[in-house]
Amino acid sequence: MDKKLIVANWKMLPNTLAEAQEILELVNDYLESIGEKKEFSLVFCPPFVFLEGVGRILKNSHLAHGSFLGAQDIAIDDGGALTGEVSGPMLRKLGVEYVIIGHSERRWKLAESDEMINKKLKSALRNELIPIVCIGEKSRDSSFKEFLEQQIETTFKDLSSDEIGKCIIAYEPVWAISTNPGAKPDTSANALESISIIREHLNLKFKIKNLKFLYGGSVNSQNISDFIKEKEINGVLVGGASVNKEEFVRVLRHIT
Ligand code: PEP
Repeated sequence: MDKKLIVANWKMLPNTLAEAQEILELVNDYLESIGEKKEFSLVFCPPFVFLEGVGRILKNSHLAHGSFLGAQDIAIDDGGALTGEVSGPMLRKLGVEYVIIGHSERRWKLAESDEMINKKLKSALRNELIPIVCIGEKSRDSSFKEFLEQQIETTFKDLSSDEIGKCIIAYEPVWAISTNPGAKPDTSANALESISIIREHLNLKFKIKNLKFLYGGSVNSQNISDFIKEKEINGVLVGGASVNKEEFVRVLRHIT
């Protein structure tokens, strides 16, 4: 069985590198305690300002094996005049290997357009970073299938099958993200249905079959087993629960 991939999206937290270190130390202690029995790989996606520090901590601990550095965003261009942005080559130099693209908070709270997301995806691929592409409906109403299909087409516009094959798809229904009003985790049955819709549409439009899928949306220690037990779900994207160090270790305990 392939190892499950656990992606920790810290969003705009924690406030200091010292707090980030505390999370990593607790995870490190846990990994040390389970030794070879680890059934998962980890990707930590801290805010840009902590990438270098977190990368250093990962390298100098037990986390060096099977833990990777991820960014939460990437600039559309590789250099030049783009105030406030961080480029793919800069991320590469910091040891970043994964990048989250099209997170719903960027799509909806920061009005990131489909065109921008498509450019960022191309930027990640150009820089040989593994894109974790977030796809998800805003509400599970009668048109959610069409919504997902439309989002897939704009997100992956003009990409080759080979390029899309390098992506990991995170199915993240927006209504299930823990910070949204009334959020609750999706059921694994719904998540599987959506993943199958996404898979079929990617296959229909771009002839892609073997993609890896994550589920994201209010994953915590109470519900992770529901998702991780499914063979079609290759891992999870964890937001809120990944910056609560005790809870994050509890989440990991359910995978080993
Ligand atoms: C996320 O930020 O991608 C996410 C899934 O958040 P949460 O786990 O807090 O719902």
